[in-house]
Amino acid sequence: MARNIGSRYTAHQILGRGSAGTVWLGEGPEGPVAIKLLREDLASDQELVGRFVQERTALLGLDHPHVVSVRDLVVDGNDLALVMDLVRGTDLRTRLDRERRLAPEAAVAIIADVADALAVAHKAGVVHRDVKPENILLDMEGPLGPGGAHPALLTDFGVAKLIDTPGRTKATRIIGTPDYLAPEIVEGLPPRAAVDIYALATVLYELLAGFTPFGGGHPGAVLRRHVTETVVPLPGIPEELWQLIVQCLAKAPASRLRASELGSRLRDVLPMLKGIPPLDVDEPDADPAEPEEDPYATGGASAGAAGEAAPRRAAVPLVPGASTDSNRDTHTSMRVPGPDELSGGPLGTARAPRPTGARRPGSARHKADAVRKRRIVLGVTAAVIAGALGVGGYVAASGGEDAPPQDSKQSQQP
Ligand code: ADP
Repeated sequence: MARNIGSRYTAHQILGRGSAGTVWLGEGPEGPVAIKLLREDLASDQELVGRFVQERTALLGLDHPHVVSVRDLVVDGNDLALVMDLVRGTDLRTRLDRERRLAPEAAVAIIADVADALAVAHKAGVVHRDVKPENILLDMEGPLGPGGAHPALLTDFGVAKLIDTPGRTKATRIIGTPDYLAPEIVEGLPPRAAVDIYALATVLYELLAGFTPFGGGHPGAVLRRHVTETVVPLPGIPEELWQLIVQCLAKAPASRLRASELGSRLRDVLPMLKGIPPLDVDEPDADPAEPEEDPYATGGASAGAAGEAAPRRAAVPLVPGASTDSNRDTHTSMRVPGPDELSGGPLGTARAPRPTGARRPGSARHKADAVRKRRIVLGVTAAVIAGALGVGGYVAASGGEDAPPQDSKQSQQP
């Protein structure tokens, strides 16, 4: 069933559904395109439409082989559509779901492509803010690269920023995953280019390990881990690659590599990765006989009872009882939980539910970490709650129903 989008485009068939709308295979004057038709509630928001038009230049200006370019913006009656390059393939989440882990060479080739895409964006003053496997598309018609990887393209530039701004964040229905969120965002700082590097390093870790370094369980716990935990090493990869990951997951944004340097250093390590099979990493849930020590336990009732375990990853409702309006997880419009939720209070528990064994690497180091954390947890919890309130403030400032509009350029500076 074809549908006209403005006077120049026709949408033919649904390619996928995302949190912001539906993506259609379409046709334009210059051939096939992908058309993202924004959700009705977004499209009918006059302020949001105004911002899309204002941001036209930033959205349309990025042109790079590893960026899914936005070619046109259509505002037509009730329709608000982004016309994009068509990528014939799949997204990285789908590949990861299928394969669980990628061989290091393919993983690094994909991440190097995305780093190159970020380099041009950051140079143009655009921060992506929502780097995650769902937003990385694999072009199955492109030439095979190292490790048999198809070219990777980063999509959804600028969209997160536009949607996660005034009037959009309704606390009662927003869901999200905080897995890719840089610690400085948890601490309430505005997102600069380094947040994309942190998110991209998180994706690289996930491609190698099969799970994100700080994900799992209650979103409040995930936010705390971003701020307080160190990343658990991955066995079986060259030290050079591990050092890049560690550096890009640094808590201090200034310590992270810039996108262009990350891209070239990842390409430097590619030859060392030839022939290395996907890593054999302890599954987080692999060993129920050795339950994880919970560094956040306060000695009260445990919420981790059988049957209550939250999924290891995937969409995490940040508001108890909220239901997803998307079949994809996203932190595009994430609301940060309040202090009582962070402490697990209103969920009816003394602490955050956490899947048994989630992030249970089983290493001695991890256990030592747990003991250390238990000692510092009281002090840190207060600090983190204050920090998370900063994000709450950030989201509230950009998302409260009555919040005044912010300068839309504020968060674009790398
Ligand atoms: P959102 O960001 O709103 O959650 P996405 O951009 O992830 O939505 O799009 C949802 C799905 O649509 C993707 O997983 C992908 O399968 C498909 N898709 C998105 N953009 C394109 C594109 N440019 N070309 C081809 N398919 C696309």
